[in-house]
Amino acid sequence: MKIRRIAAYRVELPLREGSYKWSGGKAVTVFDSTIVRIDTDGDLTGWGEVCPLGPFYLPAYANGVRAGIAELGPHLIGENALELGKLNHRMDAALKGHAYVKSGIDMACWDLLGKAAGLPACVLMGGRFGDDFALYRAISQESPEAMAGRVGGYRREGYRRFQLKVGGDPDVDIERIRAVAAQLQPGDRLVADANTGWRMHDALRVVRAVRDIDVYIEQPCLSYEECLTVRRHTDHPFVLDEVIDAVDVLLRGHADRAMDVVNIKISKFGGLTKARQARDLCACLGVAMTLEDSWGGDIVTAAIAHFAHSCSPEAFFSATDFNSYVTVSTADGTPQRTNGRMAASTLPGLGITPKMEVLGKPVLVIE
Ligand code: MG
Repeated sequence: MKIRRIAAYRVELPLREGSYKWSGGKAVTVFDSTIVRIDTDGDLTGWGEVCPLGPFYLPAYANGVRAGIAELGPHLIGENALELGKLNHRMDAALKGHAYVKSGIDMACWDLLGKAAGLPACVLMGGRFGDDFALYRAISQESPEAMAGRVGGYRREGYRRFQLKVGGDPDVDIERIRAVAAQLQPGDRLVADANTGWRMHDALRVVRAVRDIDVYIEQPCLSYEECLTVRRHTDHPFVLDEVIDAVDVLLRGHADRAMDVVNIKISKFGGLTKARQARDLCACLGVAMTLEDSWGGDIVTAAIAHFAHSCSPEAFFSATDFNSYVTVSTADGTPQRTNGRMAASTLPGLGITPKMEVLGKPVLVIE
């Protein structure tokens, strides 16, 4: 099944809460998402999506997705969309790095593979474990009281896992963690995600000050080495995110015992094919995972659902339902959160049907 045409659509996704804030004063109010469409000579169409968390989170930006696809796309016309290992090999040969550019193309080809096989993507990725899986809710950086209030509200909506955006003034961050922890009930999980925002001395003060609290510490500092220093001075469970973007650093982290949990974001690894390699490796190594993406709307959420639902429960930590954070829906058939949990579609491929009236005309067509 040969790739005949690649198109990209640009969609704006405003945030339901108005804005999303994290370390260092970084904030987004409207996300710029790229939806990728791949048409084949077999008359099947596949869909993918890439949505960076602004231009200042990872080395990725929204216009870069489109520019990258314009560069890479011509090398993929005529390639077999269903041979995903070979297709990724071709993408890496034609464009070095730029993992996030490749993610939407790879995702669309998983959608095609499922449609061609008549199977949901989660079945092809390993199988559906259980009825559904647990989601976490990211709590945008605000005052300690406001964040505690948000956690209380989202808890009433069914979430039991919360990821606090800290990485600000360490003294306020200590208050944030304490205020939120006071809201929690047995069985809840709390993660304090500094998103690289602390220096080592700040992080060491925070972990000591919250030593009596059951909280995971996520990506305290910018570099792997700084995070490892903090890790070696705390007994809190430890999560790495921004610095884990490929199998080599994952293996290094495992050898150093640098983390207990990693966040595998689909576009950070370059698509579902590579994210799945990392996921299955982590499962073998005993490292738990949050399975997600940098951001996205309905199509990314559908992909996350298949990726998460096919992860063994022992290795699974949490996943994200980005479509509930934004006000614009781009596809029908996307899974919706129920009581803090979600399940992948049982339809072939990703199981979604894009809303063409929302997507509008493509901003880029390669054929
Ligand atoms: Mg994180």
